[in-house]
Amino acid sequence: MIPSTLFGERPELTELHCHVGGAIDPAIMWSIAHEQGIRLPSKSYWDFVELITVSHPDKVNNLTEYDKIFRWTELIQSSPLAIERSIYEVIGGAYRKCNITLLELRLNPMKRNREGEQDLDHIITASLRGMDRALLEYPLVRAGLILMMDRTFPLEMNAVIIEKALRYHDRGVIGIDIAGPPNPEFSYRAHAGLVERARDAGLGITIHSGEEGRIEDMWEVLEYLRPERVGHGILCAYDERLIEEVKRQNVTLEICPTSNLRTRAVRDLAELRHIIRTLREREVAFTINTDGPEMLLTNLVREYQLLIDEGILSEAEARACMAQAQTASFLSRVCPV
Ligand SMILES: [Zn+2]
Repeated sequence: MIPSTLFGERPELTELHCHVGGAIDPAIMWSIAHEQGIRLPSKSYWDFVELITVSHPDKVNNLTEYDKIFRWTELIQSSPLAIERSIYEVIGGAYRKCNITLLELRLNPMKRNREGEQDLDHIITASLRGMDRALLEYPLVRAGLILMMDRTFPLEMNAVIIEKALRYHDRGVIGIDIAGPPNPEFSYRAHAGLVERARDAGLGITIHSGEEGRIEDMWEVLEYLRPERVGHGILCAYDERLIEEVKRQNVTLEICPTSNLRTRAVRDLAELRHIIRTLREREVAFTINTDGPEMLLTNLVREYQLLIDEGILSEAEARACMAQAQTASFLSRVCPV
């Protein structure tokens, strides 16, 4: 396989925002599902591809519908052997397809343990084993795991995830996140203590917010959780004071163009252009990511190419985003780039 090129070159790329549940090639997911003996709703591989990808632009209408697709991929990845192979495959695949040499992968281990039936430590150590195997095969790649809390979990469950992140910090867990389906009952503020513990231990902090819905959520995140990075954060383009706060706190946004278009967080390319140009002109630090390349039928090279082809970013600006991704990576402090 010849990796896709950008500017007639094959630049080394960094991906900071990539969910394991959306990052595995459907053919590999099909194989894992069969290894696990999972009863799938159809015998047809093509129906399966349809089930686990956003196969056409009108397939999902919002973030909640997008999150429903993850139920299948997370179920299939819910065993030590399944998650080990998933992580192993995604790291090698990202390098071969796009020359991604710095990769942060995020997952919620509690959505991979069949609601407690599987042991969480087995799931996490299997993930780390999959990463180790891939990094042995591709020694020019560096990778780390981000453990995600969830907006639909009670505080006590999220506390267990932070405990695990602390326990496996020196083994390859590099950061924490809060993600999952939107939940009006969820309080970011209530998680300030957990986030503080992670920060004190040296873990990187990135939090999903400002993707769609209430802009107040992003304010709450900045005020009480003080992350180094925000997953998406595009809504700040509509709030001058929020832009100022993002800059004051030196936060880097993880922007995922195709994901935002497919979940309808962003209406169309014109709105995407408005958001990204606003952030550029206001000198907000941001990076370009896929969110989940296989589920969204994209990859990191295509994301950059889309922005360049549409005149949203110049080549120089795209290169600046690549450099910012390296700088903002939690791996940079483990082993400086
Ligand atoms: Zn995400």
